[in-house]
Amino acid sequence: EGQKVGGDTIFGKIIRREIPTEFLYEDELCVAFNDINPQGPVHFLVIPKKPIVKLSDAEDCDEQILGRLLTVARKVAKEKGLSDGYRVVINDSDQGGQTVFHIHVHVIGGRKMRWPPG
Ligand code: 5GP
Repeated sequence: EGQKVGGDTIFGKIIRREIPTEFLYEDELCVAFNDINPQGPVHFLVIPKKPIVKLSDAEDCDEQILGRLLTVARKVAKEKGLSDGYRVVINDSDQGGQTVFHIHVHVIGGRKMRWPPG
């Protein structure tokens, strides 16, 4: 058996298709799918297949993966018609509000966003 990919979180199960989830995008490095609890008319997540736990745990060798997450965020946002803009967020660790410990980029749009966030 090959080594499991995706890590031991709910997002690992999504990557391994153990939890059926429609992918908005997939390539060799990452996938994108809608958030189950959307914070706007559009809210999707982009996650790497490599189970990087959080941004603060990423390594220099992960630079290509981290760049890809933003590139995919941009492409899927365009497909979703977010031509007026959108919010891109990475929550890191407890103080950053992270709840799923597999790094993910949130893309939220379709409404006017406020700043600063709470
Ligand atoms: P965090 O708080 O870690 O930055 O964000 C985790 C996000 O994952 C939340 O917005 C939450 O709604 C979403 N989420 C948690 N479990 C699932 C799931 O099983 N499926 C999907 N599609 N999203 C999930």
